[in-house]
Amino acid sequence: MNMKSSFLTCPTCGKKFASNPIPKSMPFCCDRCQLIDLGRWIEEEIGLPYEPTDGGPDIEERPNVREIRFE
Ligand SMILES: [Zn+2]
Repeated sequence: MNMKSSFLTCPTCGKKFASNPIPKSMPFCCDRCQLIDLGRWIEEEIGLPYEPTDGGPDIEERPNVREIRFE
């Protein structure tokens, strides 16, 4: 078993990269991916009208869903 070089998976782009030497952008493969992840966080915090792919796609297709109420 070769344990000298271990690889991490970048949470942003999914690319495998060597963790030795440890990159300063850990746990991301590069500064760019780190910024992208940070940008996602900020967008979620602010709540921009930007629809992420893992959001609810049905909301846009049913704009009148709020008018239907059961009271
Ligand atoms: Zn990356």
